[in-house]
Amino acid sequence: MEYKIAVVPGDGIGPDVIEETLKVLDRVGDKYGHTFKYTKYLAGGAALDETGEPLPQDTLEGCKNSDAVLLGAVGGPKWDNFPGEKRPEQALLGLRKNLGLFANLRPALLFEALKEACPLKPEIIGKGLDICVVRELTGGIYFGEKGFKATEYGKGAYDVKIYSEGEVKRIAKIAFDMAMKRSRKVTNVDKANILESSRLWRRVVEEVAVDYPEVELNHMYVDNAAMQLIRDPKQFDVIVTGNMFGDILSDEASMITGSIGMLPSASLGVGNFGMYEPVHGSAPDIAGQDKANPMATILSAAMMLRYNFNLSEEADIIEAAVKSVLDQGYRTGDIMSKGMKLAGTKKIGQLIINEI
Ligand code: NAD
Repeated sequence: MEYKIAVVPGDGIGPDVIEETLKVLDRVGDKYGHTFKYTKYLAGGAALDETGEPLPQDTLEGCKNSDAVLLGAVGGPKWDNFPGEKRPEQALLGLRKNLGLFANLRPALLFEALKEACPLKPEIIGKGLDICVVRELTGGIYFGEKGFKATEYGKGAYDVKIYSEGEVKRIAKIAFDMAMKRSRKVTNVDKANILESSRLWRRVVEEVAVDYPEVELNHMYVDNAAMQLIRDPKQFDVIVTGNMFGDILSDEASMITGSIGMLPSASLGVGNFGMYEPVHGSAPDIAGQDKANPMATILSAAMMLRYNFNLSEEADIIEAAVKSVLDQGYRTGDIMSKGMKLAGTKKIGQLIINEI
């Protein structure tokens, strides 16, 4: 089979980690007789430098016409003072919106070999962690009406949070479908004691739950969820939540797994189409220095094989290779600990390839 992949390396360590990931995919392709055809596109700061736009039309069209999108990261200090619509992050928001990617899946998996990197006490995490945050991605406060208005205290600014029944229904279904393949538990996170939009959200989640009698559903206010993730993260399996709450909680869930350099993500749209990217940013402090951990991006590519192309065996083999490299004691700087072997981006990539 031939698969058309739009590759968007982006800025900072984006190109470093993407390079290793493509090599890993090629190795999988050789082993299983698939051809992954890559076309590279600009986005973020790199695109701003070249075209004056964070998301050029050519990039958007190329991504739309591919089978899947693999993205590194965008942004960096060079573009920090650009006005709102010219900021690199606009590329991500634009891609998500224009590609109809409404669900963000972020597995927070703590590998046994990295248990020491978890900042929580060993008795809290037990044998490891496996939480998946399902975040709504194209609605809510990040996309609601925004503007300025005069207030009695001077100039004010506002952002409106609005959710429709249809938006909640489709994200809830994704969460329940995932839970069916995992531990059959969904925690809905909202702020229904205060927000009208959360009350609608909660009602629709409960309506969807009726179709999944085997899945246990519970609700939690976002402030409590932020505490519970640290106090007792093992109580969670799938967390479903809106755009802004999900943005914050998925980062928190990430950190309890020890390193942002290990965390993959998938953003899914309608049908078998998604964008796959690491959770971390462009890490300008280590860009181009062979120091970035490529595992988050490599694991994102595994998610692409699993969710986009239905290649479960190929995805499994990548994940097993990552685990094996960790078990052998190899670490990039972000996950380094005493007695382990420090390795750079390229070396880690090669070790993973060797395992496939
Ligand atoms: P960051 O994730 O880029 O970096 C945070 C810290 O983690 C840094 O010390 C960095 O060196 C380290 N780190 C991150 N990924 C790593 C990896 N793979 N291997 C080893 N170490 C890693 O977050 P930040 O510093 O807040 O943001 C830097 C830039 O990235 C900003 O311009 C921000 O807007 C952008 N950003 C982009 C995305 C994205 O493209 N999805 C996400 C978050 C931040």
